[in-house]
Amino acid sequence: MSQNPWLVPVTTLRRQPGARREERRVGQIGELSVVGSVVPASAEAVAVAVLDSAVGGIEVTAEIRAPWQGECRRCLRPLTGELRCEVRELYRPRSEHIGPDPDEDTYPFEGDHLDLSPMVRDALLLELPLAPLCGEDCRGLCPACGADLNAGPCGCAASLGDPRWGVLDVLRAPEVDSGPYAPAEPEGTGEPRV
Ligand SMILES: [Zn+2]
Ligand SMILES: [Zn+2]
Repeated sequence: MSQNPWLVPVTTLRRQPGARREERRVGQIGELSVVGSVVPASAEAVAVAVLDSAVGGIEVTAEIRAPWQGECRRCLRPLTGELRCEVRELYRPRSEHIGPDPDEDTYPFEGDHLDLSPMVRDALLLELPLAPLCGEDCRGLCPACGADLNAGPCGCAASLGDPRWGVLDVLRAPEVDSGPYAPAEPEGTGEPRV
């Protein structure tokens, strides 16, 4: 049997209502990714869990940590950090977990082991930042030349002129040939004329 670090034996717990077991587990949890960040497949997650034999199953309270990677959504510089969260979940025997109305708020287990990994994965996924920033005051990249504006002004703003006048230019353009003598515009199409 392969060494799955997330499997915890529960036979003793199941026999003794009220019993408690503490476990510290470390291991890879598989890649987890959202739009802005990822827990790499090679990363090691840590779960410090307390398992309580409870009515209807085993209640697991855990403190979970894992490293994440991503990039700043404004300047695209690589970022790393650590996710930390606490969860409390109920694991129920799979035999009591069947039926047309499965309890979405619990995790199943069967046999004499309980697998912490689905709970660890779910918890970490919720913690991954969707739009990480290197800092609240990140200036991002220049939309014209791509320079990192955190390193200083790139000079584009000066050479492009005041962007407020650029907006007016766009508004003016369609009106050039629509003076009082221009043919009436057909109503209802809303199509801009060229
Ligand atoms: Zn940034
Ligand atoms: Zn620039």
